[in-house]
Amino acid sequence: MSTLPKRRILVTSALPYANGAIHLGHLVEYIQTDIWVRFQKMRGHECWYACADDTHGTPIMLRAEKEGITPEQLIARVWHEHKRDFDGFLIGFDHYGSTNSEETRLHAHAIYARLKAAGLIEVRAIEQFFDPVKQMFLPDRFIKGECPKCHAKDQYGDACEVCGAAYQPTDLIEPYSAVSGAKPVRKRSDHFFFRLSDPQLAEFLRDWTRPPHVQAEAANKLKEWLDAGLTDWDISRDAPYFGFEIPDAPGKYFYVWLDAPIGYLGSFQALAEREGLDFDAYWDATRAAAEGTEVYHFIGKDILYFHALFWPAMLRYAGLRTPTGVFCHGFLTVNGQKMSKSRGTFITAESYLRHLNPEWLRYYFAAKLTPTLEDIDLNFDDFVARVNSDLIGKFVNIASRAAGFIHKRFDGRLGDLPPHDTPLPAMQAAAEAIAAYYEAREYGKAVREIMNLADLANQYVDQYKPWEMAKQPGQEAKLHQVCTVAINAFRLLTLYLKPVLPRLATQVEAFLNIPPLAWADSGQLLTEHLIQPYQHLMTRVDPKAVDAMLADNRDSLMPPPAPVRHGEHQQHGVVTKSAEPTPPPSSAKGLINIDEFGRIDLRVARIVEAEHVAGADKLLKLTLDLGGERRTVFAGIKSTYTPESLVGRLTVMVANLTPRKMKFGVSEGMVLAASDERGGPFLLTPDSGAEPGMRIK
Ligand SMILES: [Zn+2]
Repeated sequence: MSTLPKRRILVTSALPYANGAIHLGHLVEYIQTDIWVRFQKMRGHECWYACADDTHGTPIMLRAEKEGITPEQLIARVWHEHKRDFDGFLIGFDHYGSTNSEETRLHAHAIYARLKAAGLIEVRAIEQFFDPVKQMFLPDRFIKGECPKCHAKDQYGDACEVCGAAYQPTDLIEPYSAVSGAKPVRKRSDHFFFRLSDPQLAEFLRDWTRPPHVQAEAANKLKEWLDAGLTDWDISRDAPYFGFEIPDAPGKYFYVWLDAPIGYLGSFQALAEREGLDFDAYWDATRAAAEGTEVYHFIGKDILYFHALFWPAMLRYAGLRTPTGVFCHGFLTVNGQKMSKSRGTFITAESYLRHLNPEWLRYYFAAKLTPTLEDIDLNFDDFVARVNSDLIGKFVNIASRAAGFIHKRFDGRLGDLPPHDTPLPAMQAAAEAIAAYYEAREYGKAVREIMNLADLANQYVDQYKPWEMAKQPGQEAKLHQVCTVAINAFRLLTLYLKPVLPRLATQVEAFLNIPPLAWADSGQLLTEHLIQPYQHLMTRVDPKAVDAMLADNRDSLMPPPAPVRHGEHQQHGVVTKSAEPTPPPSSAKGLINIDEFGRIDLRVARIVEAEHVAGADKLLKLTLDLGGERRTVFAGIKSTYTPESLVGRLTVMVANLTPRKMKFGVSEGMVLAASDERGGPFLLTPDSGAEPGMRIK
């Protein structure tokens, strides 16, 4: 195999906010990035993976205060928690830093100074809500009051969680500060703006926001934003604020979103100093162009605006290189729905690791990942089935079936290979196709191709049946060859899966007694080679462990359910908890308030399929369409309805009920029906005009 020209690549993932635990939603991105980085390293390229905790802003400041510690103490603790979780999922950062670092501060100052020199920073007085008790300006999410539309109490300053209305904080009825409870006053203050409305920036961004810098889908979205016109970006916050003070403006701080992406530079700077790398070769616009270095950011689709508009504009006008590519991914859903605390599907990295093997999730995500912005779904039944069938049934099994004979019959030594009729040439020939899939972030396709090769290997073993050959006299030489083929097939599969399963690959390398596998090693095969006795490599997923994990995540919020709020600062589903406790249930007399009612997600649903359930007297299995999303519900309505009479009709379902595992399958909600001693159950039907997915409120 010819040697590839060596690329020099820097890769980043979005910086997680230092105000909450890493959960499976985050891990989609870190696993996606880590696979890509490991693949590039296996190809022999110089590839660096830098990341950091994103540490600044009001939520951090207030949470530290509430805990009675300094922000620095808080972010130090969270850094260790995050690092522990990333290590647990085998995320191989070359450097994991913090935005609260000297490197990031200096880069923030330098970029700001250059933008200012370019005439792109403007100071303007704006009026905002100010907390007179706490003596601080209040971000939208720290102002609460009565919803101007539905009059629900205690709603946030930007949107109502009961009726969904969006508004300005000044529209709230009887606003109060969520920090002190005081009535906020309006106050003017000077703010610093990055002049994104400048025509030269719009022109640059129109040109830049296209493939290959961004995916085609992202380019369309960005074009919409550019067509709507960019407004100047407020990059300063007034003291008290946890962040970097603006050099020539005492009492003014850089907004956390300004220094967060600069954290990529800060983290890489620390890495460059440690490894003796040339920082400017990667980041100086002229040097980077001359040297052909590459920079890629992996991000969630919710922060596309920041990474594909603000960030390249900042870099460009500060004389720095712009990213080679911004790779945007979708969100994670669990069992077809948004992650939810009440369903136990808001799963933290830590709780997953308590119950399950990280490489199972890495494999499952890889099997589902595409280079698009589409969401990916973690369906636990599918997870169990796929991991057990692919990783155990098809992959690990090949080694366990062949290695025993090599050890017992042939003193642990591989033999020679038969000249014809083995799957090995086809498996070797697939190396470049699989590499092309990894390169293009088509991991799902890579995994499918690798599993096709595993099928070939298993067909070969099934054809020769070494366990039968071992019982027949005179078959010794053939048995040795067949087992040698099987072990070689296993080695090739391990090589191809190594970006996804790095720990397993290391175990296999020890078992096969070989140096770390690189991509080019697919060109060679092992013969007349001593291997170690087979050690158990991976267990099957026990569905009970999945149930225990879900129960853990449900239990952790009892009692009462903790409010989950988006903070002033969000990154792809990093949610920040609000500072206030949940309001107590409103009444002891069995009355509920509107907020409590609002927690029940009632939806119009169309019954698209209905069928009898073998062995069930009362149940019908319904497939419901919620306006695109499909749910399976087992409903006890067989006494009143035939399946045929139900198909096509609309009804009402509870859409956020914890899925229930029944003897016949998982029921993902319930339909509403009326009954008493006079008869029923009678299904509810909405009036004409209602469409599947509409919320009932
Ligand atoms: Zn409302």
